[in-house]
Amino acid sequence: MADPVFHSSRYPKHNEQGRGNKGQIFGGECNRTRCTAHGATWFNRGTYAYECEQHAKGANAFPTDGQVPCVETDGQLTLDMMNFYVTELKAKMAMHRKAQ
Ligand SMILES: [Zn+2]
Repeated sequence: MADPVFHSSRYPKHNEQGRGNKGQIFGGECNRTRCTAHGATWFNRGTYAYECEQHAKGANAFPTDGQVPCVETDGQLTLDMMNFYVTELKAKMAMHRKAQ
């Protein structure tokens, strides 16, 4: 399994609460506090962390400005890739608001 990538904007900061790499490894444990599912491959652009399919799809059921928060990924993201995903999301949200 890949090494964890800790984004400074991640939420929550499980590793600082003694909960290890939760949510910070592609394919690892879901970021949701009460979820212990493994195989988290969906990147949540609001929390900068990986979630299991169930929680990601649950979050995606409630789009904001026409955009869903979670995207399925196929490997561990670098900090640059995480930032790219979030920048892209913010741009699409702004375009959606402009078009309203
Ligand atoms: Zn989960």
